[in-house]
Amino acid sequence: MEKTSCNEKVCKRCGWCCTNLGKEIDLTEDEELKLKKHIFNKVGVVYIRTLRKFYLALSPEEARVLKNEAKKLGINLEVLPNKLIYDKDNNKVIVYDYYLNHDSCPFYKKNLCTVYEKRPASCRQFPSTKRSYMKEVEKFIKKRKINLLNTYYDETVEKCREFLKKSNATAGI
Ligand code: SF4
Ligand code: SF4
Repeated sequence: MEKTSCNEKVCKRCGWCCTNLGKEIDLTEDEELKLKKHIFNKVGVVYIRTLRKFYLALSPEEARVLKNEAKKLGINLEVLPNKLIYDKDNNKVIVYDYYLNHDSCPFYKKNLCTVYEKRPASCRQFPSTKRSYMKEVEKFIKKRKINLLNTYYDETVEKCREFLKKSNATAGI
């Protein structure tokens, strides 16, 4: 599918972004790890998915809404955890958000979004990409007074993996 002029103001409804969710990003494994560690050190969040692909982020509420819509439409939807936060004081892992694990959005049919009225915030904002996810995460952590101190990246990733294994969250929400 050809991407039409996607400027910061007008969506031409070419469908390119809906059908290229999993587009690969030019990043080596080492660069990816460095970037993940950098984000963790700066904000305290662990990206549990790969950063070597684009993705569509979903808040827990958006994930629930899309799951329901998929059920109604008979769509096989895979929604997986995206960013995780380790709450040291309470020794628990919080799933901050999710992502749609599809290279092409399963709601995109016949050149239309079949969940248009209920589409996630990221889709509403496109083509603008000015949203600052990291600032949103920072606010979330501050508001809940989550203590992230004295945790290390590898240790935190391990805790997040254990949590996902126990809660079976890798299978979706
Ligand atoms: S926002 Fe998506 S659908 Fe709209 S013009 Fe850009 S790539 Fe195409
Ligand atoms: S939810 Fe709709 S607008 Fe968003 S990626 Fe899917 S088809 Fe496109």
